[in-house]
Amino acid sequence: MQSSPHTTHEYDVIIIGAGAAGLMCAIAAGQRGRKVLVLDHANKVGKKILMSGGGRCNFTNLYATAENYFSANPHFCKSALKRYTPYDFLALVEQHQIEYVEKDAGQLFCKNSSRDILQMLLAECARAGVKIKARCSIKKISKQDQFLLATTDGQYSAESLVVATGGLSIPTLGATGFGYAIAKQFGINVLATHASLVPFVLQKKWQEKLAGLSGLSTEVSVCCNNESVSGGLLFTHKGLSGPAILQISSYWKPGDFILIDLLPGFNLLGYLQEQRRLHPKMELKNILSSQLPKRLALRLCEIWSLDRPINQFSEKQLSDMAHRFHHWKLYPESTEGYKTAEVTLGGVDTDELSSKTMVAKKQPGLYFIGEVVDVTGQLGGFNFQWAWASAQAAGLQV
Ligand SMILES: Cc1cc2nc3c(=O)[nH]c(=O)nc-3n(C[C@H](O)[C@H](O)[C@H](O)COP(=O)(O)OP(=O)(O)OC[C@H]3O[C@@H](n4cnc5c(N)ncnc54)[C@H](O)[C@@H]3O)c2cc1C
Repeated sequence: MQSSPHTTHEYDVIIIGAGAAGLMCAIAAGQRGRKVLVLDHANKVGKKILMSGGGRCNFTNLYATAENYFSANPHFCKSALKRYTPYDFLALVEQHQIEYVEKDAGQLFCKNSSRDILQMLLAECARAGVKIKARCSIKKISKQDQFLLATTDGQYSAESLVVATGGLSIPTLGATGFGYAIAKQFGINVLATHASLVPFVLQKKWQEKLAGLSGLSTEVSVCCNNESVSGGLLFTHKGLSGPAILQISSYWKPGDFILIDLLPGFNLLGYLQEQRRLHPKMELKNILSSQLPKRLALRLCEIWSLDRPINQFSEKQLSDMAHRFHHWKLYPESTEGYKTAEVTLGGVDTDELSSKTMVAKKQPGLYFIGEVVDVTGQLGGFNFQWAWASAQAAGLQV
């Protein structure tokens, strides 16, 4: 029998957003016997999980601690992270016999596909009796005794409402600012947001100069506002990307410069002095090509007018040039913004939430979890770990 369009479907818990945090919270609540509904406006659930880690989902980082997160209150995430650790999530992954590999510094990736993680979460949801509805948009939320949701798919009510709508990053994957709007509706403060873990766009003149390098990557260390990160740098059509650049973007503000060390840990001056002694007539660009990707060495020598044999450089010129390769100063014009950013800095003010349960202090029954909250991880599996841990904290309470 079909229900009338005016029927209100009753649940104990409604979760808005079927991403990493929403599904994890649903599992914890469902396992406690709560009647749980997850709503998502996208046509498919868990899209970001599928896209993550280059299709292999860097699902946690074994060394995750509060120090790996940005937040106006750096202590807020400690409690949840302590109570649901990377090893707890790993136990679930192992229970589902998902093969994984450890990359640098505790970063755990699926060996095969991100799909394994999504399938695991959906299987656990099914086992816990969780109902999931995609393609469902929420038109209005009100609160009387219960939360009442008017949606494109009918009316729903629940005692607990969990907001797991994520940040603003990548609108084509379903991201919206809806979670912030819900917070504001209930008088909850939202801190300014910024795109983070995002490529830089360089000034037009640098884009033209570096045009031929697109697709080339090299190991660097990059510095911004006294923070330094080592890793890969990738030249793109518009500017710079790669792990080191994405990571440093979290510290960059418009107008700031970045300093790139193209040969980290290498004594370029000493090497050049030695080469000048051994091969005085050799072109500098050929000498540099033995230490840097050849295309990069040739291009920078052209840009910086260094196209001549090494014996034509004075000691001072050699030293200035070595300095330049170790401290390449660039003023990014902007970032690529939310269109390609992996995460969003800022969001629901943690002062408004309980760090134990993620419930809003001003509004009993209303919870915020995952990326919508002002807790943002560094690159390397930290963002998913926050999604799992904050979701678990709420899921045990709702
Ligand atoms: C390309 C890419 C790669 C990444 N790789 C990694 C990685 O390897 N490791 C890592 O730790 N982190 C990674 N991240 C970050 C990580 O994906 C996020 O931090 C994490 O998914 C956040 O989980 P969440 O559940 O809070 O939000 P999301 O996963 O973004 O889920 C939010 C859900 O809410 C839904 N929603 C939004 N608005 C509405 C609305 N108005 N109504 C109904 N539903 C709505 C969305 O459709 C979505 O399903 C990556 C991010 C991107 C973009």
